[in-house]
Amino acid sequence: MNTTTNQQIALVTGANKGIGRAAAGQLAELGATVLIGARNAERGEEAAAAVRASGGVAHAVALDVTDPAGIRAAAQQTEERFGRLDILINNAGMTSYQQVDPDKAVDQIPSTVDLDMVRAVFETNVFGVIAVTNAFLPLLRRSAAPRVVNVSSHAGSLTLIGDPDGPFAALLPSAAYSPSKTALNALTVNYANELRKDGILVNAVAPGYVDTDSNNHTGFLTPAQGAAVLVRLATLGADGPTGGFFTADGPAPW
Ligand code: NAP
Repeated sequence: MNTTTNQQIALVTGANKGIGRAAAGQLAELGATVLIGARNAERGEEAAAAVRASGGVAHAVALDVTDPAGIRAAAQQTEERFGRLDILINNAGMTSYQQVDPDKAVDQIPSTVDLDMVRAVFETNVFGVIAVTNAFLPLLRRSAAPRVVNVSSHAGSLTLIGDPDGPFAALLPSAAYSPSKTALNALTVNYANELRKDGILVNAVAPGYVDTDSNNHTGFLTPAQGAAVLVRLATLGADGPTGGFFTADGPAPW
């Protein structure tokens, strides 16, 4: 059973646009106070203002998940203002080399990939999740129902991408994005195993193929549709799963 989110404090990283922004809006509709994590303060404030304009409670929080000092500052501000965190959605993610250097080609093919690309993608999608989670864990421990949701991908499922006859065989081989999400799935299980005894539920989700900037708007789901599974796992009741991987349709294969 899912909890109501009245008066819960929820942080969504990378919430200024796309799936994260939609998840923040949905959590606000459920009554949560949402903290819009954004590495660009102006874009974060714009997204927070949009949530407020729809009747929700939202605050922008400057948060680049690759900036340790900024992460510490965000956690400190959250502690001073709210004293705890109930929901952490690690949504910020990076897919393409263009976000590292616009002059370099978008290439993640294993045999030709530039290692700088792999490092940059892992810095955001994997190391950033560890850094943010660990900085906010002391605040999550003060919650009555702490939940962590890591936004993964079908492309992180070894079962799906490893099936030569399956629908994901058509995906371009990748040495960066896909392995980063596989690593994120592994991290999810390890965090869940560590935190199970403390009642902190940690799960990974695959939002599906969503129409956002990250795929040049080729996805067929709306951000709201993609965000629904994030919100479902963020609002699990005490009897909810931990250490799982879920799509909108239910458990996903690792
Ligand atoms: P998006 O619209 O491009 O949003 C990505 C968000 O992450 C943006 O807010 C971006 O901020 C932020 N971000 C990137 N690097 C960051 C950093 N270092 N620090 C803080 N924020 C950072 O893409 P999206 O599709 O909504 O992606 C959201 C998540 O869903 C990602 O983890 C992605 O891998 C995952 N996902 C998406 C799909 C899909 O089909 N769209 C499928 C599977 C999984 P800026 O605006 O500043 O760039």
